[in-house]
Amino acid sequence: MSTETLSPEHQATIEEVGNLFAESGFGTPEVFAVAPGRVNVIGEHIDYNGGLVLPAAIDRWVHVAIRRRDDALVRLVSAQAPGKVEEFLASDDLAPQGNNWSNYIKGVVTGLKKAGFEVPGFEAAVISTVPVGGGLSSSAALEAVFGKAILTLLGEEMDGLDLAKLCQKAEHDFAGVPCGLMDQAAVILCEEGKLLMLDCVDDSFQHAPFEDPDWGLLIINSCVSHELSDGGYAVRRDGCHAAAKILGVETLREIDPAKLDEALAHPDLTEDMKRYVRHAVTEIARTLETVEALGQRDYALAGELLNASHASLRDDYRVSCPELDFIAKLAQAQEGVAGCRMTGGGFGGSAIALVRRDCVASLTALIESRYEAEFGIEPKIFETRPMGGTRAWKA
Ligand code: ADP
Ligand code: MG
Repeated sequence: MSTETLSPEHQATIEEVGNLFAESGFGTPEVFAVAPGRVNVIGEHIDYNGGLVLPAAIDRWVHVAIRRRDDALVRLVSAQAPGKVEEFLASDDLAPQGNNWSNYIKGVVTGLKKAGFEVPGFEAAVISTVPVGGGLSSSAALEAVFGKAILTLLGEEMDGLDLAKLCQKAEHDFAGVPCGLMDQAAVILCEEGKLLMLDCVDDSFQHAPFEDPDWGLLIINSCVSHELSDGGYAVRRDGCHAAAKILGVETLREIDPAKLDEALAHPDLTEDMKRYVRHAVTEIARTLETVEALGQRDYALAGELLNASHASLRDDYRVSCPELDFIAKLAQAQEGVAGCRMTGGGFGGSAIALVRRDCVASLTALIESRYEAEFGIEPKIFETRPMGGTRAWKA
C-alpha cells in the first residue's frame, strides 16, 4: 500500500516519524508501519471464563519508520521516550532489562527468530498517539508494529493470528504481563467498520459489523489507576475457576443463562463466587446480544447492554471505582448516548460510550467540566469508530 490510503493526520505523523528517523542520524527509512490501539466494547473479565470478547481498533496509532542494517545492531528512538537511543544486538540471546521499552522489541525479535526468520540489525523511530499506560494497549500496538515492520523489511509475511500469538508471548516473556490474546489479536486482526469477535476458548474469530456514519464510540480516560491490595485480578480469576469446578464445568461459559438461578443455588458456592458467576454468565450472553444489536443498528438495545455490563462490573464483579461510576452515570443520562460502561480490567482506566456523533462535542465538554469539578482531574476524551489493524509498506 501507499500513504494515499491513510488519513491526513496519519500522513502527517508518517512524515514526522520519517523526520525523527532522519534527525536521529538513521538516514532514509525503508519501510513504514502503523498499528492502532484497541478498546473492548463489551465482554469484560470473561476471557478467562471461556467467553467472547468484542474489541475494536481505535483511531490512535503507533507509527514506525525502519531501515535494515548490514550488521546485527538494533538502534531505536521513540518520541515518547526522548533523548536516548536504545541499542541491542539482534543476534544475541536476548533477555528483558528493567522496564525499558526496548524489551517489547527484544521480545518480538526473539519470537521472529524462533519462528525461523533471520532477523538483521535495524534502525527504527517511533511516534505514538496511543496513550501510554492508558489501558488502550500501547504495548500490544508497539509489539505488532515492529512485528509487521520487520517482516516487511525481510519481504516476508506471517498469518495474523500467528503474529498475534508471537506478540502475546513477547508481552509474557519480556514485559512479565500474563495477558490473554485479545489485545494483540485486536491490534493485528481488526478491520475497518468491524468489531473483532474473539472466542477465548479456541482463538477463533469473526468480524462483526459496526459501521454507521451517525454513530461512534467515545473513549473517556478517567486518568486514574487504583492499585488493589488484595491482588484484585487474581482473586476474581481464581474465584471463577473454583466456582466452575464446584459447578462441574470446564468454564462458566457452559452455564446456560436460563439456568443461572439453579447454578447459583449450589450450596458450596461462597457469596463472592455467586457474584462472579452471575457476572460471567450474564456478560457472556450480553456480548453475543451486542453483536446482534449493533449488526441490526439497534443502538437502544446495544446501549442497554453496555449499561447492564457496567452495573454488573460495579455491583457483582466489583472492579469499578468512583471515577468510572461517575462517568458512566453522567454519560448514560445524556441525550444522544445509547449506553456507557467502564472498559478494561477496571479500578481506573477508561470508559466507553456508544454515542450519536452530533452529540460528541457537547458531551465531551460536559463530562470534562463535571468530572474535573468532582475529582480535580482532567479526563482525556476522544471519539473513534472501528479502525483497520496493523499494516506496513515499503517507503
Ligand atoms: P498500555 O498497554 O495499557 O498502554 P502497558 O503498561 O501495557 O500499558 O504498556 C506501556 C509501556 O509500553 C510503556 O511503559 C513503554 O514501556 C511501552 N511503550 C508503549 N508505547 C511506547 C512508545 N511510543 N515509546 C516507547 N515506549 C512505549
Ligand atoms: Mg499493555
